[in-house]
Amino acid sequence: MTTTMMPRAVELLRPGDDGYDGATRGFYTSARPGLLVRPRGPDEIAAVLARAAHDDLRVSVRSGGHSPLEHGPDPREVMIDLTRCDGVEVLDPVRRLVRVGSGATWGRVAAALDPFDWGISAGDTNSVGVGGLTLGGGVGWMVRRDGLAIDNLVGARVVTADGRLLTASEHENPELFWALRGGGGNVGVVVDLDFVARPVGTVRFGTVTYRADDPVALLGRWRDVMRSAPDELSSTLALPPHTPGATPTATVLVCHAGGPDAATPDAAIEPLFRIGTVLGTDIGSCRYAAILEDAVPPAGVRLVVRNALVTSLDDAVAAAIAGFRSGRTAVAVRSLGGAFARVPSDATAFAHRDAEAMVVGLLIVPSGTTGPEVEGALVPWRAVADRGAGTYVNFQGSATAEDLAAAYPPRTLARLAAAKRAYDPGNRFAHNHNIRPTHDDPGVRT
Ligand SMILES: Cc1cc2nc3c(=O)[nH]c(=O)nc-3n(C[C@H](O)[C@H](O)[C@H](O)COP(=O)(O)OP(=O)(O)OC[C@H]3O[C@@H](n4cnc5c(N)ncnc54)[C@H](O)[C@@H]3O)c2cc1C
Repeated sequence: MTTTMMPRAVELLRPGDDGYDGATRGFYTSARPGLLVRPRGPDEIAAVLARAAHDDLRVSVRSGGHSPLEHGPDPREVMIDLTRCDGVEVLDPVRRLVRVGSGATWGRVAAALDPFDWGISAGDTNSVGVGGLTLGGGVGWMVRRDGLAIDNLVGARVVTADGRLLTASEHENPELFWALRGGGGNVGVVVDLDFVARPVGTVRFGTVTYRADDPVALLGRWRDVMRSAPDELSSTLALPPHTPGATPTATVLVCHAGGPDAATPDAAIEPLFRIGTVLGTDIGSCRYAAILEDAVPPAGVRLVVRNALVTSLDDAVAAAIAGFRSGRTAVAVRSLGGAFARVPSDATAFAHRDAEAMVVGLLIVPSGTTGPEVEGALVPWRAVADRGAGTYVNFQGSATAEDLAAAYPPRTLARLAAAKRAYDPGNRFAHNHNIRPTHDDPGVRT
């Protein structure tokens, strides 16, 4: 355990302290840092960074604690927990400009914006943190209508490795702002983020469940419906773990966010009733804030997540997905396109704007399953990954050089490395899909 002295006013927890285990527990994996600190704002964050640099401690940053990356015990790590930076403040009601603390959860944000009939498209789960989800990109229930969470971001306040508080926007520190939008927390500690919220109140939301004896055909027909769907409709096709002998099922989740004046949400959803043998439907009208779900990781298991962004959800991809399916895997295929696709690929550090869908594969194995056993169980995933044009860091539970290359095309990686050199040349923020300041500059290719 580290004996470092942190600034006196900052709340901190060490192993053995009351609340330490809960504070360091993550969705996929629990961390065991030597010290967890809870700064209340930029000054305290800067003081913690200065102290960590002085004592040569490794730094990690936590907002909602849902990082998919392994997080082993490290007595020389200080974890900056942003739980105390969780405000949600309307800065300008006319522009719908909202400042959100990184440590807020998306459930809290949705609840705070609900009375205004506003929302920010950002994930499907209440407990996910604003900081981590946004910095990776943020795929939400209105992704086809409003784009990624980062596409609705207009500014951020960031404490960089040297303790400076910088504002990042299109006009101030624009390269920092670019790197924040998809670069995954590589360039500083984000204190809060300014979003333009979108009008949303009541949505049509729910599920259609099918027999899935032929998942390849079902995926193809779902893809065809989504190709001609209006942007207001976002959808996910989920394949739960399949036990041999049981009736195979698939569930399509839909969210139609047309607002109170939407002409025909049900007309947009209706074609989905004809893509397979429907076993049941449950679609109704509810507030956007009510559709975010609570997710609790099951006890006694290890969850491992991978994803692939595919430019065309063709039969070869669908067959690879079907090949990954087993009693210990779950797959969610999320429709993209629409507003997501209209953002130029170099406008943000999330470059894969030509992806038609994101395939998320979850492996569920007993806790204690070793790394090599996990790799063995992931062999069937390789066929899906090989057909992907890229990955999304927020659903990628490994961070090899290959993963980085899949997340960031060469030009993006080069530009991120340049931002890293400018804002974190010593690589203080390395507990992530790490962009090294020393990365060569492959972006010179023309
Ligand atoms: C149940 C569940 C549902 C999910 N649903 C969605 C979804 O619908 N859409 C989607 O896009 N993603 C989704 N995700 C993935 C999610 O975006 C990532 O897990 C993300 O990392 C979560 O952010 P967090 O703040 O909760 O996690 P954290 O573990 O707190 O943060 C993840 C990483 O981000 C960095 N980071 C976090 N905050 C900051 C900060 N303020 N400054 C600098 N760096 C920071 C750190 O490197 C940290 O390790 C889901 C994940 C889970 C487990």
